[in-house]
Amino acid sequence: MTIQENVPLAPLTTLGVGGAARFFAVAESVEEVEEALAFARERSLPLFVLGEGSNVLIPDEGISGVVLKMAVRGITVEDRGDRAVLVAGAGALWDDVVDAASAHHLFGIENLAGIPGSVAGAAVQNIGAYGAELSRVFDAADVVDSETGTRTQIARDAAAFAYRTSFFKQHPRFCISRVTFALTKDAEPDLSYADVARARAAGAPLATPAEIARTIRAIRAKKFPQDEGEGTAGSFFKNPVIPRAHAEALAGRFPGLPTFPREDGRAKVSLAWLLDHALSLKGYAEGPVRLYEEQPLVIVVRSGATAAAVDAFARAVAARVHDATGIAIEREVETFGVRS
Ligand SMILES: Cc1cc2nc3c(=O)[nH]c(=O)nc-3n(C[C@H](O)[C@H](O)[C@H](O)COP(=O)(O)OP(=O)(O)OC[C@H]3O[C@@H](n4cnc5c(N)ncnc54)[C@H](O)[C@@H]3O)c2cc1C
Repeated sequence: MTIQENVPLAPLTTLGVGGAARFFAVAESVEEVEEALAFARERSLPLFVLGEGSNVLIPDEGISGVVLKMAVRGITVEDRGDRAVLVAGAGALWDDVVDAASAHHLFGIENLAGIPGSVAGAAVQNIGAYGAELSRVFDAADVVDSETGTRTQIARDAAAFAYRTSFFKQHPRFCISRVTFALTKDAEPDLSYADVARARAAGAPLATPAEIARTIRAIRAKKFPQDEGEGTAGSFFKNPVIPRAHAEALAGRFPGLPTFPREDGRAKVSLAWLLDHALSLKGYAEGPVRLYEEQPLVIVVRSGATAAAVDAFARAVAARVHDATGIAIEREVETFGVRS
């Protein structure tokens, strides 16, 4: 395995900003993962694992440690009667996994079609869309502990999935090399989301996983910027989960605010709605950075922007939300290298 020096990271991310990695390695096997982790450990350098870079912000000053680009690929499907086990290399593309499941007529991840990124990134972030979440089909992950170099497995019970987070996100010392998913041959697909229900009413075929995935991809194509020269990391912020009384008070102040009560006495509120209707921030721009006109949770960055500009813009949006609602919003996108 070659360890390169001073490798620009911006082209390896979908935001397309930020500096270089002091050391950079590409791992195509678990042995190469171990090698890269040992290189970092022996030099006491911090290690950051990069998937497809679709949910990270790289600081302009770069990363003064080791960046490991995960490229362990391969997808296999094993038939187990009425269900199947799908095993994917951590660096396989998530959407290829959706295609593999569709090809075997397996349900469980069809609503997650079209989400950019790798298999490991999907598990770390517990990706979700159109009523589905990765946590529902996750079975286990093979990991290498970057502190000790040992291989181990994190099973479903230990994966601590919650809204856009997981055990892996909370414990970045574990580098995922492979993920196993449990999928089913028979399922009642969830077609309840408004966009999907509209497509169904318009006659879109939605009987098989492949048909549902195709429809979801078509819906998604309209939701995210498609222009060359523009970067994005999808939703930059999480929808806030706040005490129910706070959500009810906001709904009173801002009639129409979608709120989703949860069993724990809290409620999720739609940040996109607040940015659009309460703060009129849809399309709000500062130089080369703006909130996307079609979906204000999405930050769009014109090429040539800096990570500092993206960070300052995100802070400004967060401050406006806090002033208007009292909510301290959290980022979904992780700033690489900022680790205590
Ligand atoms: C246009 C667009 C649309 C999007 N839509 C959605 C959506 O609908 N729903 C949704 O949930 N997300 C969405 N996202 C966010 C993003 O696609 C997901 O979070 C994705 O799963 C990130 O995967 P990645 O491989 O790009 O991870 P990266 O961005 O490379 O990394 C993300 C995190 O995972 C860690 N990581 C990566 N690989 C490993 C590994 N092997 N072991 C340990 N840690 C690792 C990284 O260190 C980092 O902390 C969207 C992004 C874009 C650009």
